[in-house]
Amino acid sequence: MVQRGTSEKGNRMGWLGRIGIALLVLIVAAGVAYWYLLADGDVPAATQYKTDIEAWRALVAGDTAELPNDVRVEVVAKDELPFGIVQAAGGYKPYVMARTAFQLNGPAGSVVIDAGMDKDIAKSTLRGRNPTYDEAANGRVIAAMGNSARVVVTHEHPDHIAGVARFPVPERLAERLTLTAKQFEGFRLWAPGGVVPPALANATLIEPQTPVRVAPGIVMIPAEGHTPGTVMFYAKLASGAELLFLGDVAWSISNVTKPAIRPRLVQDYLMSPPENRDKVAAQIRALHDLSLAEPDLTMIPSHDETHIEQLIEAGLIKRIFVIDAP
Ligand SMILES: [Zn+2]
Repeated sequence: MVQRGTSEKGNRMGWLGRIGIALLVLIVAAGVAYWYLLADGDVPAATQYKTDIEAWRALVAGDTAELPNDVRVEVVAKDELPFGIVQAAGGYKPYVMARTAFQLNGPAGSVVIDAGMDKDIAKSTLRGRNPTYDEAANGRVIAAMGNSARVVVTHEHPDHIAGVARFPVPERLAERLTLTAKQFEGFRLWAPGGVVPPALANATLIEPQTPVRVAPGIVMIPAEGHTPGTVMFYAKLASGAELLFLGDVAWSISNVTKPAIRPRLVQDYLMSPPENRDKVAAQIRALHDLSLAEPDLTMIPSHDETHIEQLIEAGLIKRIFVIDAP
């Protein structure tokens, strides 16, 4: 009897022990999955990605008399994401994603960076909470594009390029438009009925392997990673101020300052096609190092509402596009 009791107890312990081990395995697996999908935002200590600001400066060195002297922003739409979507391990605190376009005005006319999106595209694009859309702001972006000297975009996602794909008078836009070949490939998704207006084939298409000047004072910098067609823009202003438009390489300026990238959950599962984690991480490391080396360079992520508000407050950027640019 004693023997049998001990054996039953032993069996029960064995059974409970196995449940315990299974639970422990599950907890560890959940921990690893959490870390892998949401908490790991590490960037490498060294980077192959080049942010050669001296080369950018050299490209616009002859533009002194034509440098932009006025920088403006339009916020076409907004929504809110948990900050942990924007930056790995960022937690659940809501983060306002401003959907912006920028305008640089000067003696050589105006350059528009990013093209807004119409209401229909916004409906399918704003997947965060509390979405808002400003039809008048988008109208000003479209009007300013039509009067600009040059239109460029940071990448081929709809909140940046749909305004190109659906521009009301494509022939008017084409002569002002410079896209990379990869942006041109990617933006047909947002064209009416999936068909790119034939007139847009007359846009200037480039395949930059190195930074290239696209307008007085403005340099396009290849930055494939977030999307195949992603680029950044360096701008030198008449005041001597220097800006770097990051597009979506960083969604928040804190991606650069910390540095920390988006979590894999976003990169691999929410983004289609997935973004190239290694390339973005290398770029964020390079931008972080550049921000330390060049503290006066103002980096501007497309979507960081708080940061943009601070730049407006500081007088570096103004609200509302000028339609008849000088
Ligand atoms: Zn974006």
